Amino acid sequence: MTVLRLILGDQLNPHHRWFDQVDGAVVYTLMEVRQETDYVLHHAQKILAIFAAMRDFARHLRAAGHRVDYLAIDDPANRQALPANLDLLRDRHGATAFEYQAPDEWRLDRQLADYARHLGPSARMVDTDHFLSARDTAAALFQGRRRWLMEHFYRHMRRVHGVLLEPDGGPVGGQWNFDHDNRKPWPGLPAEPDDSRPRHDHGVLWRAITAAGVGSFGDPMADRLPWPLNRAEALAQLDAFLAQGLRHFGDYQDAMSIRGWRLFHSLLSFALNTKMLSPAEVVARVEEEWRRGVAPLPAVEGFIRQILGWREYVRGVYWAHMPGYDDRNALGHDLPLPSWFWTGQVGMRCLAHAVGQSLRHAYAHHIQRLMVIGNFALLAGLDPAAVHRWYLGVYIDAFEWVELPNTLGMSQFADGGLMATKPYVSGAAYIDRMGDYCRGCRYDRKARVGPRACPFNALYWDFLDRHAAALSANPRLALPYRQLARMDPADRKALRDQAADTRRRLETI
Ligand code: FAD
Ligand code: SF4
Repeated sequence: MTVLRLILGDQLNPHHRWFDQVDGAVVYTLMEVRQETDYVLHHAQKILAIFAAMRDFARHLRAAGHRVDYLAIDDPANRQALPANLDLLRDRHGATAFEYQAPDEWRLDRQLADYARHLGPSARMVDTDHFLSARDTAAALFQGRRRWLMEHFYRHMRRVHGVLLEPDGGPVGGQWNFDHDNRKPWPGLPAEPDDSRPRHDHGVLWRAITAAGVGSFGDPMADRLPWPLNRAEALAQLDAFLAQGLRHFGDYQDAMSIRGWRLFHSLLSFALNTKMLSPAEVVARVEEEWRRGVAPLPAVEGFIRQILGWREYVRGVYWAHMPGYDDRNALGHDLPLPSWFWTGQVGMRCLAHAVGQSLRHAYAHHIQRLMVIGNFALLAGLDPAAVHRWYLGVYIDAFEWVELPNTLGMSQFADGGLMATKPYVSGAAYIDRMGDYCRGCRYDRKARVGPRACPFNALYWDFLDRHAAALSANPRLALPYRQLARMDPADRKALRDQAADTRRRLETI
């Protein structure tokens, strides 16, 4: 009896229980398929990094004695879709059983569940041994609630996993959340840590990918593909972050600067989302830094909240609300994305930097994604499905289970407020407070109307005005709605006209 086991491109966990023993009756397969390169237009670095990491993983398995049948993108036998390739490989190896790890994306989950169903009891799905909560943990916790507050979920996870807890079960430091100590702008010092990420040369693989006709955008080899492509490289990156970035993470986690595109962020999301690293080990290592007195509690708590809280929480939102979550558009926004989303050529300095670095590095940090690009898309009224496709394509770490709730829910408020208690919107004042983009921008951050007025300002007030029916009763928006109500009608009309003009000429702002 031969068992065929499928490993997807984001399941590169060498510590999975499957690999505990070498078994000659098991054939592992990884496949580079057009089905996965083509479901959205991806950044070139994302395609290249995933395929290169899959090849590295296959080498690692073979070296450990496992049998591996790897289908490369240019293999003439490759049928370019999972089910057709699985048929091929089952025949090739005379496989009598088929196993796969639980996919994280609904699309793949359905496809493989359908495939397994037609095989009957000889097919089975196993856990990925990766996440700290089950697909349905959040759904169970929030049952019957209209709003799914992350903080509630996060405290639950801290208790269940015993993270940053006193012996009596209370939070260390006497509070669960140290956000008020964080969120400072970055004055330029301490210096951004060196970029010690690994560099690679994968020109041959890239030529095979393009020869196979795979479409993409961005430079595949910018900075020589500096993403970890195996667990050893991912661990080295974690070490570097613990040594240099973590202690400043809290202070500057929301900062933005024209002088630094990484600041003190870990850039670990690719390694985590492809499962080279486990969230449990990252959380444990970070907590240890605090216990050893190396990193301050606000930084450690802030970082752990991202992984133990946000990351697991968005996954729970995804599984509770798919299918159909991707179709939500609570505010009825429908403008197409301007072409500068693919060039970075836009006059607004903050957007030029955030979009530009996304295109160059396949990376932007959280506040750039949320409060610059996402904020603009929401205020301007861009189609949330198109915004979702852009985010899913451009970022190195974008896999639908984590990208979709962040983009559609948290950033675009398209789920009507399930995830966010209010839309994440602001005028120029927030961007100016958190960084140095505004100094040197062609727009005036303080002006609301006129040719030099920062577009964020009129768009902000117009957004509140246009969506008053849906949003004005929200207590967290009471203050700006009071300000809007007090505004002189002529000023209000001027803001409306200014915003309408901006929305008409998005291509040239
Ligand atoms: P750090 O700032 O160093 O944070 C550490 C880790 O915490 C990250 O590696 C990530 O695993 C986790 N994390 C932090 N915030 C979140 C969050 N909101 N949701 C889930 N995990 C989080 N993250 C993705 O992994 N993939 C995406 O496709 C993605 N799309 C996003 C889209 C939008 C509109 C927004 C606002 C956020 C998105 N995020 C996404 C979350 C976050 O921006 C990235 O995880 C983070 O920027 C990755 O960089 P880092 O590894 O340097 O993170
Ligand atoms: Fe962005 Fe406006 Fe500041 Fe310019 S002035 S950087 S457009 S927020």
